[in-house]
Amino acid sequence: MSKPTLGNPQNTIEILQKYHFNFQKKFGQNFLIDTHVLEKIISAAGITKDDMVLEIGPGIGTMTQYLAEAAGKVAAVEIDKNLIPILEDTLSEYDNVMVINDDVLKVDIRGLVEKENGGRPVKVVANLPYYITTPIIMGLFEGNGPGNKDYGALSLAVQYYADPYIVANVPPNCFMPRPKVGSAVIRLTRHAAPPVKVDNEKWMFDIIRASFNQRRKTLANGLSNSDKIDLPKDVITEAIAKLGKGESVRGESLSLEEFAALSNDLWEKKGR
Ligand code: SAM
Repeated sequence: MSKPTLGNPQNTIEILQKYHFNFQKKFGQNFLIDTHVLEKIISAAGITKDDMVLEIGPGIGTMTQYLAEAAGKVAAVEIDKNLIPILEDTLSEYDNVMVINDDVLKVDIRGLVEKENGGRPVKVVANLPYYITTPIIMGLFEGNGPGNKDYGALSLAVQYYADPYIVANVPPNCFMPRPKVGSAVIRLTRHAAPPVKVDNEKWMFDIIRASFNQRRKTLANGLSNSDKIDLPKDVITEAIAKLGKGESVRGESLSLEEFAALSNDLWEKKGR
């Protein structure tokens, strides 16, 4: 076998039947069965033999085969122990893949990268399970264990840490079993430095979270009701007015730049 064999629906079905595999909904298992999508993912990641790739949730090893062909080394973390014997089979031709049977949110990724790649950056390529997309992405960016589940606005956090690019939209029929919603291939290229200047990152994310926790409320009410923010309403309203926004503005309509300005202003008011 010199080319990836999975990705072709027939081969995927054969493997699933051979091992009497039952999909586990709780693990967000929707396996890719479209070679074009797989090729797009590999090419968008620009993987070379100099790269080590971390794959989250290899499933039966479909994308892992493509990654093993392109990368120098692949570490794949899979939570479902029933998939481990299958991965041993589908990846038997590759000596540059290491499968780790664990919950990715519990793996010491920093330690793994240090040990396996001498601390040099790795590329993360994954068809993520929907139910933990946010903690996985935030954990990777923050680099200190699993991220908070409730970022309120994942898109704002993503913009703060990376340059996001939509590579392709992927319809449900590219997966087995078919999910109810469409998916997208997203490339996140980490910024060398954040695009906005923030006096206190944690404070800005506290503000973003407080703004989105109470979606139906105005931004001013959302922030003044928050124990974490703990500032008088007139101080908050004044800071919002400085952005050129009216009293009825909602958190959803603020950009990252506006949240950064608001956060710096309120941090000043807080007396640090
Ligand atoms: N990469 C495969 C593919 O594209 O066909 C499977 C993708 S499927 C959407 C998500 C995979 O992540 C499943 O194999 C699932 O068992 C695994 N998974 C779910 N939760 C996980 C966790 N906390 N840690 C590691 N793997 C997990």
